[in-house]
Amino acid sequence: MMQEKNMKKTRPLIAVTPWYDYEHEKTYIRRGYMEGIHKAGGFPLLTSLCNASDTAQIMDTFDGVLLSGGPDIDARLYSEENMPQNEWISPLRDTFETALVKEAAVRGVPVFGICRGIQVINTAMGGGIYQDIYSCGKKGVLMHVQKAPKWYPVHDIRIEPGSFVHTAFNGISGGANSFHHQALREPAPGFRVTSRTSDGIIESIEHTELKFMAGVQWHPELMWQKFEEHLKLFRLFVDACRG
Ligand code: MN
Repeated sequence: MMQEKNMKKTRPLIAVTPWYDYEHEKTYIRRGYMEGIHKAGGFPLLTSLCNASDTAQIMDTFDGVLLSGGPDIDARLYSEENMPQNEWISPLRDTFETALVKEAAVRGVPVFGICRGIQVINTAMGGGIYQDIYSCGKKGVLMHVQKAPKWYPVHDIRIEPGSFVHTAFNGISGGANSFHHQALREPAPGFRVTSRTSDGIIESIEHTELKFMAGVQWHPELMWQKFEEHLKLFRLFVDACRG
């Protein structure tokens, strides 16, 4: 009976972390995340945010974790004080998502982080963040908070050969949209940078040994509808979740 149940499970079950609106007490998600996972062959489910102590059970239940975009991370989680530029903080998400990443790393469960998600992966695994790329002293920082349509690739990325992003883009360059005023300062131990913009901002990372723990600073959930390479990011993640 159990075997029959497993055989019917053709779509890997993907836990998607939601946004949380503190004012209206609502959890929610943009459709592009859920439909992107589904289009890529997965079965997406939105999680609650109250299960930070249940991460072991979550890893038993789900085949992978998608960390969605969202607000800034409490800087104290990467050993800094919160500067005025670190505006929106979601304690519920910080606690839950950090616990998820740490447990997934121990258990080898695939994790894909988008925008805030790449930053959560990095801080949970011991890396740092620029609280604001426009006031951290870096010169010549490009437009990373675009006002162009959300799907529009406002900047190019330079991609490292042999990476997950390289496989998705089938090349060493590509385009990506951009909605972030923060960025990774350096990759956490065990990770490598897989793409940057020409100003040196880190746009993606991946773990060098875990099966799949990777993040992108852009928003492929807003681009896959128009660009196959951004759907391929979801496909490679879902394929990794298939085991
Ligand atoms: Mn960017």
